[in-house]
Amino acid sequence: MSQQWQERYAASVMNTFGPPKLVLVKGEGAHVWDADGKEYVDLLGGIAVNALGHAHPALVAAVTEQLGTLGHISNFFTSTPQVELAERLLSLVGADGRVFFTNSGTEANEAAFKLTRRTGRTHLVAAEGAFHGRTMGALALTAKEAYRTPFEPLPGNVTFVPYGDEAALARAVTDQTAAVVLEPIQGEAGVVVPPDSYLAAAREITRDNGALLWLDEIQTGIGRTGRWFAGESADPDVVTVAKGLGGGIPIGACIGLGDAATLLQPGNHGTTFGGNPVACAAALAVLDTIEKEGLLDHATEVGQRLRDGLAQDPRVTEVRGRGLFIGLDLSEPVSAQVAAAALTHGFILNNPTPERVRLAPPLVIGHDDVDAFLAAWPAILDDAYGGLR
Ligand SMILES: *Cc1c(COP(=O)(O)O)cnc(C)c1O
Repeated sequence: MSQQWQERYAASVMNTFGPPKLVLVKGEGAHVWDADGKEYVDLLGGIAVNALGHAHPALVAAVTEQLGTLGHISNFFTSTPQVELAERLLSLVGADGRVFFTNSGTEANEAAFKLTRRTGRTHLVAAEGAFHGRTMGALALTAKEAYRTPFEPLPGNVTFVPYGDEAALARAVTDQTAAVVLEPIQGEAGVVVPPDSYLAAAREITRDNGALLWLDEIQTGIGRTGRWFAGESADPDVVTVAKGLGGGIPIGACIGLGDAATLLQPGNHGTTFGGNPVACAAALAVLDTIEKEGLLDHATEVGQRLRDGLAQDPRVTEVRGRGLFIGLDLSEPVSAQVAAAALTHGFILNNPTPERVRLAPPLVIGHDDVDAFLAAWPAILDDAYGGLR
């Protein structure tokens, strides 16, 4: 079955992602099934999206009920889920502000990019290794040459600095800088955690220069790291979120705080779908469920067990991350082989760089699935490293 769907995919879907690794037909909790009936434990969660796993009853009910009540209205109007979600996000951030809703992470960053232009300055500082999305503005802030080069010239005046280096950041930011954009933990780079003092230093440097501090929490936000936001103590001006927010329903948000809340004025930006009642109802259900099921503490506890277990194997040279946002380095550049071997063993994980493996499982993942994965881990590495020789 899978083979036939792969062929139809290749003949009908634009080849921007390479061949899909699986044809999936069903999911429940942290488990998915492919078109041939094989079951997998999903340790990637749709790239840090499926916070509640697959087919969580609370999410299914919220979306079904909202779609049956009021599905879409445009931004000439508002809906009660939209207002409730905006209030809720601001209360989670713990500061006064205003929210602009989008359908994706890259769009949340486009909104933030435009917001920074309203400071009257155009210079931006971003980090090497950063990923902020694939639309032209977000791409201008994304360091990776392979993503950028085919599409240059990109908008903006962007300086890239080594991630985690406070002195380099201090040198790059001037009184012409509109904003510094940082991931609190870099995701696509392979879950890279900066020094503890880095975000606080970024706050100080931006404040001293009258620049905005913009945290891209698209991958780290909404409980992924065992907290609502990974950079919540840094007192940012702008926070962008997406991925986990809708638990699989597309939604993102650009959150402006303090004075940054009012930089975008009527007519400055817009979207047809953003803040759609169904997406907002989904996000409210995700936030409610994270709270009700105690998933922040669960992510912290299960994540620690996973990191400890993964680090036992000598072929793993470093394990990083917080909560259920986990990256590890291998002693050889065999992450693609590790991901392939894991699939054979019935586990989905990700290889963001040749040496690095990333895990971002649903926040609801159970101890039984973690045990099964850790039990299979040495054999997965055996297969991957054996394939080397
Ligand atoms: C995934 C991601 C984006 C882009 O989000 P999309 O929904 O894929 O557009 C931006 N920033 C970070 C940190 C991300 O992880």
